[in-house]
Amino acid sequence: MSTNEPTEARLSNGVMSTGEGMRIFPDVEACIDCGGCVVACKRTWDVEISNQRIDITTMLEGHEADEGFNGHQTRAIDEGANPGETHLPMQCYHCENAPCVSVCPTDALQKKDNEFVEVVDDLCIGCQYCLSGCPFGAPQFPESEDGLNAVVGSGGVMDKCTGCEERQDAGQGPACAEECATNAILVGSSGQIADELEKRDSGAFFNETAMEIIFGDDARMFDQ
Ligand code: SF4
Ligand code: SF4
Repeated sequence: MSTNEPTEARLSNGVMSTGEGMRIFPDVEACIDCGGCVVACKRTWDVEISNQRIDITTMLEGHEADEGFNGHQTRAIDEGANPGETHLPMQCYHCENAPCVSVCPTDALQKKDNEFVEVVDDLCIGCQYCLSGCPFGAPQFPESEDGLNAVVGSGGVMDKCTGCEERQDAGQGPACAEECATNAILVGSSGQIADELEKRDSGAFFNETAMEIIFGDDARMFDQ
């Protein structure tokens, strides 16, 4: 592909723009739980096997269905229902009003001027407050024998999605979004994501409180 092509032409359909102010947001109607995003993320950033920066949660008829999944499904089929599944790629959405940033006691989590939420490894003490603060389960704590973990056996330095900032600096979309076969991970401005979901007739999935955490005042752009 010619390098003279405009950046937009090189991006995949789910990636509408990149760089400062971009947001990452899932279209749960499009996700088919193939795991492509998880693999793309691990491969791109050499994420260790026990760690997952994206977790695809499956829900059945609106109920989270992990260990009870087969039971729910069997019961529903027995009752003559055909329960649908919803798959939700959970990762760091680089929230506008990020609770993880508010609760971190060491300023290891920072909302940068370009709106990415980054972890400063050297400042993280592995206290896991951010895990309690994040409503989306994004913070991960890879096993480690280093630092505080060696003393108190905590989960080590926090790790999470970086938004593929380096890729975005080079005009590329996040690896998860570029690799998604169904364009279920949307990347762009709040307005672009809201417009795309409306065009697809997909709901925003999260409730009003979660949308305000992720998008701040821009949450009003989305149909709830
Ligand atoms: S609250 Fe969770 S999803 Fe939001 S920026 Fe923090 S880690 Fe990411
Ligand atoms: S684990 Fe690290 S990033 Fe999370 S709240 Fe504690 S110091 Fe901050």
